[in-house]
Amino acid sequence: MEQSIENKLIKADKAFSEWRKVPFEDRQKLIAKAAEILKNNSEKFGTIITTEMNKPISESIAEVEKCALMMNYYADAENILKPEKIDSEFSYSEVHYVPKGVILGVMPWNFPFWQVLRFAVPAILAGNTVVLKHASICFGSGNGIVEVLLEAGFPEGIFQNLEVGHQAVKEILEHNVVKGVSLTGSGKAGGEVASIAGLNIKKSLLELGGSDAFIIFDDADLDEAVKAGVKSRLQNCGQTCTAAKRFIIDEKIEDAFLPKFIEEYKKYVVGDPMDKETKIAGMARPDLADDLEKQFQKALENGAEIIIPLERISDNEFKPGLIRVQEGNPILQEELFGPLGMVMIAKNDEEALQMANNIPFGLSNSVWTVDKERQLFFIENLESGTVNINRMTSSDPRFPFGGSKASGYGTELSLLALKEFVTARTIVGN
Ligand code: NAP
Repeated sequence: MEQSIENKLIKADKAFSEWRKVPFEDRQKLIAKAAEILKNNSEKFGTIITTEMNKPISESIAEVEKCALMMNYYADAENILKPEKIDSEFSYSEVHYVPKGVILGVMPWNFPFWQVLRFAVPAILAGNTVVLKHASICFGSGNGIVEVLLEAGFPEGIFQNLEVGHQAVKEILEHNVVKGVSLTGSGKAGGEVASIAGLNIKKSLLELGGSDAFIIFDDADLDEAVKAGVKSRLQNCGQTCTAAKRFIIDEKIEDAFLPKFIEEYKKYVVGDPMDKETKIAGMARPDLADDLEKQFQKALENGAEIIIPLERISDNEFKPGLIRVQEGNPILQEELFGPLGMVMIAKNDEEALQMANNIPFGLSNSVWTVDKERQLFFIENLESGTVNINRMTSSDPRFPFGGSKASGYGTELSLLALKEFVTARTIVGN
C-alpha cells in the first residue's frame, strides 16, 4: 500500500480515538454548520458535480441542497444511541452502542455528493471516522466534501478522501484499522467488496443496482403518472439506481397512456449540462454509453420492439429511447443505466405483480392506482425495499432506504442508519 494512503488510515484511526468521546449533541452542531456551508455554496459544489459527470446543473444544485436537508435532519435527530437500561435481576443491565472505528465508503459517480454524505453523515454522527474511495471521475467532489467538513470545524481525520482507483480497495479494506465498508455501486463491485469484507470478518453494507417497475392502472391520474414516469426514467440521464426502468401498463389504458407518455418523453432534448434549462445531457462516460447501446441491441435481438429509437448523437449523448419488451427477454434481468425505458403490458393485477417481481433486483417500485385494496395487494407483495404509491421514487432522509434481493442489504437514511456501524455492547452483572 502507498505510504500516503496508509498514513491517512492511521490518521483516521487516531482521530477516532478522540471523536468517539465527543458528545452526540456536539457532533450534531458540526453537522448543522456543514449543512449551512453546503446550502450557501450549492452553485459552487453543483458546478463541480456537473463538470465531473455531466449532470444538468439544476439537478446538481438540487443534489447539494438535498444533502443540506439530510444533514439538518441528522443535526436535529433524536439520540437513539444513548445507553439503554433493560429490566433484569442484575444491577448492571444495559446496552451501549459503540462505534466501530474507521469505515470505508466506496462510492459511485451518479450522485457524487449525495451518495457519499448519505452514508458518511450517520456513520460519523454515531462516532466513527470515514475514509472515502470515490469513483475515479469524482475526486473533485470528494475533495469538495472534505473542504466543507473542515470549514464546518470537524477535526482533521474524521473524513478523508483517498483518491485511489478500485484496485486499491482490497488492501485498504484488509487493513487492521478499517472496521467496515459501505459500498454504493454495481452488483459486480458490491459482490467483490462484500467477499473481501466477509473473509476479513468486517461489516458491509451494500446499495446496488435496480430495475424498478412503475405500474399504472386504469384508475390512476394518468397525466400525473406520465410526468412522474418520464422524469423518473430520464432525470440524471437515466443514471439513477431507483429510476423507473420498466413501465408496466394495464392493458385497458395502453391507448390512453402511451401516446401521452411518448409526447412527454420527447420533451427531454439533450442540451448543455451547464444551462439551467437543460433537462437531459450526456452520460457520465463514453464507455457507459457503449454498454447501453449494446444492451439496446441485445433487447432487439431478443424480440423487443422499438417505440422510440435510442439514437447516439455523440460519444456520450443519446436521444432517449423506449422499447416494448415481452416477458422472457433476457434484457429484463439486467439494469439499463441510461436513457432507455422498457414498456410491458399487463392483463391484470396478478400479471403486473408477477412481471414486477420477476427480476433479480428489488429497490423501489412505484404503483399508480387510487383503489385501496389494490394498493394493499402491491404493498404486501412487491419485492422491494420501498413501495411508492402514486408518487415517483425519491429518497427522503426521514425514511429508511435500502434494497432487497440483488439490490443489496443494510439501511441508509432515517434513524436506523445510525445503528449500521455500531456494536450493541451488553453490560450485565453486579
Ligand atoms: P461501479 O462501477 O460499481 O463503481 C462504484 C464504485 O465502486 C466506484 O468507486 C468504483 O471505483 C468502485 N469499484 C468498481 N469495481 C470495483 C471492484 N471490483 N472492487 C472495489 N471497488 C470497485 O458503479 P458505478 O458505475 O459507479 O455506479 C452505477 C451503479 O451503482 C448502478 O448499478 C447503480 O444502480 C448503482 N447505484 C446504487 C444506488 C443505491 O442506493 N442502491 C445508488 C446509486 C447507484 P472506480 O471508479 O475506481 O472503478
